[in-house]
Amino acid sequence: MGQITTNNELEVKYGLPAEVKFCKKCVLSNQRPQPTNEAGFTKDSVKETTFFDEEGVCSACRYAEMKDNVIDWEEREKELIELCDRFRSDDGSYDCIIPGSGGKDSGFTAHTLKDKYGMHPLTVTWAPHKYTDIGWKNFQSWIHSGFDNILITPNGRVHRLLTRLAFINLLHPFQPFVFGQRLAGLRMALKFNIPLVFHGESPFEYGCSTMNETEERGFRKKYFYSDSNHESIYLGGVNVNELIKEFDIDLNDLQLYLPLIEKELKDFPLEYHFLGYYLRWDPQEVYYHAVENTGFEANPERTEGTYSKYASLDDRIDGFHYYTSFIKFGLGRATMDAAQEIRNHKIVRAEGAALVKKYDGEFPQKYFKEILEYMDIDEEYFWELIDQARSPHLWKKEGGVWKLRHAVFYEDQ
Ligand SMILES: [Zn+2]
Repeated sequence: MGQITTNNELEVKYGLPAEVKFCKKCVLSNQRPQPTNEAGFTKDSVKETTFFDEEGVCSACRYAEMKDNVIDWEEREKELIELCDRFRSDDGSYDCIIPGSGGKDSGFTAHTLKDKYGMHPLTVTWAPHKYTDIGWKNFQSWIHSGFDNILITPNGRVHRLLTRLAFINLLHPFQPFVFGQRLAGLRMALKFNIPLVFHGESPFEYGCSTMNETEERGFRKKYFYSDSNHESIYLGGVNVNELIKEFDIDLNDLQLYLPLIEKELKDFPLEYHFLGYYLRWDPQEVYYHAVENTGFEANPERTEGTYSKYASLDDRIDGFHYYTSFIKFGLGRATMDAAQEIRNHKIVRAEGAALVKKYDGEFPQKYFKEILEYMDIDEEYFWELIDQARSPHLWKKEGGVWKLRHAVFYEDQ
């Protein structure tokens, strides 16, 4: 079963576990990093990875078991109603912020809170690097299904530069989006004095670094907050002071990316909640709900790197986010999709492993030229950076071809 090899002699990048293990229940490996406050990230940062227990099962699968057998969902819904009662406005003002793109998760979240629980949300969107046609269409349908929205589009020159630096320094071209995605809703919460922020799906569905986190109702402050000044903040792996000095950027150009600081939040009674903590989250059900109620449409064609059609469709750079994760951690988009579907009882593990074998790490060819141009990187340099980012404990070169040393589908051969 689980392929366990010691890699004592091989270099390990990013502080990943030297021994690669696959979950006994899904297809996830122990190499997956956890969501964190990325504002301190440099080339040398060590990642916190997904917790695996003594039986070799990942925390996401254990959480899925709790969802099935332990959590009292009626009780949780009561807590949600109490929460909404505490904040619901009756004077025509907004009472909660819902950050999102109009994808299936934010579609479901906004519609459910407004329609079923009588809330008055203001939706807030942080624009993708480059909208896809389907992403823009879904965003518009969401608004037209009945929501006020603020779209925040960052300075294009700065966003492109940060994306280029994040790719060169961290092989993480999605990082500038992550900063805004996490912060945009909170900034609007502060600006409009709406202290309740709802995110849809709990990220702990996909794993956490300790099982205790599954009991958390929302992100803790550490994910978007810094108590220090700019000296310790890095964007795209470059210190903020250096960005200002070397790249002709004003501090004002960077404000949307900087974590909130303690004094901004000091007396603000911010509450950040995952709707997925209160309501049992099933991505496929959420998808059907969004199709029915907010005009959401799946991608007309299969998404490169996976077999699914309904997640993460908005941004032309999405495929590169998953591809670089495949290079750095050996885990691509099909792994994440298959693991989730196994946990939600849609497919069994062997099917998941076959899907990973077939699709994981497929190169996102469709927008390749466009993204190279966007990042101002030529193809040769692109591949040089890709190969430099491969950790020797995960990759080997055989006959001129890069191969993963460990894969969930090797177990069955
Ligand atoms: Zn698992």
